[in-house]
Amino acid sequence: MVLAKKWIYAKAFSGLPTAENFRLEEETVAAIKDNEFLAEAVFLSVDPYMRPYMLQYPVGSVMIGGQIAKVLESKHPKYPVGSFVCGNFGWRTHTVCNPDEGELKPYVLPDFGKEPLSLGLGVLGMPGNTAYFGFLEICKPVVGETVVVSGAAGAVGSLVGQIAKIKGCQVIGIAGTDEKCEWLKSIGFDHTINYKTADIGEELKKAAPKGVDCYFDNVGGKITEIVCGQMNVFGRISVCGTISNYNSEAAKVTDPQRDYVWKQLKQEGFLVYRWKARYMEGIEQNLKWIQEGKLKYHETVTEGFENMPDGFIGMLTGGNTGKAVIKV
Ligand code: NDP
Repeated sequence: MVLAKKWIYAKAFSGLPTAENFRLEEETVAAIKDNEFLAEAVFLSVDPYMRPYMLQYPVGSVMIGGQIAKVLESKHPKYPVGSFVCGNFGWRTHTVCNPDEGELKPYVLPDFGKEPLSLGLGVLGMPGNTAYFGFLEICKPVVGETVVVSGAAGAVGSLVGQIAKIKGCQVIGIAGTDEKCEWLKSIGFDHTINYKTADIGEELKKAAPKGVDCYFDNVGGKITEIVCGQMNVFGRISVCGTISNYNSEAAKVTDPQRDYVWKQLKQEGFLVYRWKARYMEGIEQNLKWIQEGKLKYHETVTEGFENMPDGFIGMLTGGNTGKAVIKV
């Protein structure tokens, strides 16, 4: 008999989540049937989308999310015992899964070589593919162009800036602390702006005297309004996320549409699963860049399944550099 721990969405989110929003429970896991497997979480992901997405679920649901898990028992030929899978099993330690059901299939992790398994939740998983496809396919960067990335020191942003450097662009990263800005410079960003202390508009003019060609937007709000004001004609904006308003009751995002018209800007929102048919291409390319020393990653690891809410709230409030993960 296997006992699973799971984090329940105990109270609807309102503002920044607190410990009251979560409740730890246990359940006995059912025996597996044909075409099912039982997996035990090794690393779990905490991501910004969980904050707005959970509002669609009733109180009492298990918290949603991805994890890297080890297959303990299996009656499915493609998920053998001992393999490691990436699956959207939620905040739970043990899961019985029929991988043929549901839209987002779990997949056995490809061989990461010497790299740690946890990267399957970061640079070699969903955030890595968000950076790879969301930047290259939507911004279509050209050598010599100027690229701005907001949320630059996070899981997605730190990769976007480095991919932009690989593509021969000038890169400006916007992040929330001097330490994060220093780290971004150490991994190749040309300029950084601490949005909490700097005059963003003035600093951006200095860093991008010829204007901005591509903007990868992770945050929305005031930062986006300022960057849009300095876009060049025919600039491209990849709208990845708007974390600046995820905790707001009524989002008060200033509308920068005027610039889109006058400058004929192209702005496009996306969900990374648009490229699910090419998912392994992104993982393989990012792994190759890591192995060639062109792509650096950083993880902020919270130890212990019991501490998942702390890791989640810490990430929402800027406590992470690079990908925030939970180690069971
Ligand atoms: P991060 O690793 O970047 O973590 C979140 C970071 O957001 C924090 O560390 C904090 O850094 C920053 N932040 C928090 N509040 C604010 C604020 N008010 N203004 C500016 N920055 C803030 O998360 P991810 O890389 O996983 O995600 C980044 C964005 O990408 C999110 O908006 C997310 O929803 C989106 N996303 C979209 C996907 C898609 O398919 N479209 C897929 C994956 C992610 P700091 O210290 O710099 O403030």
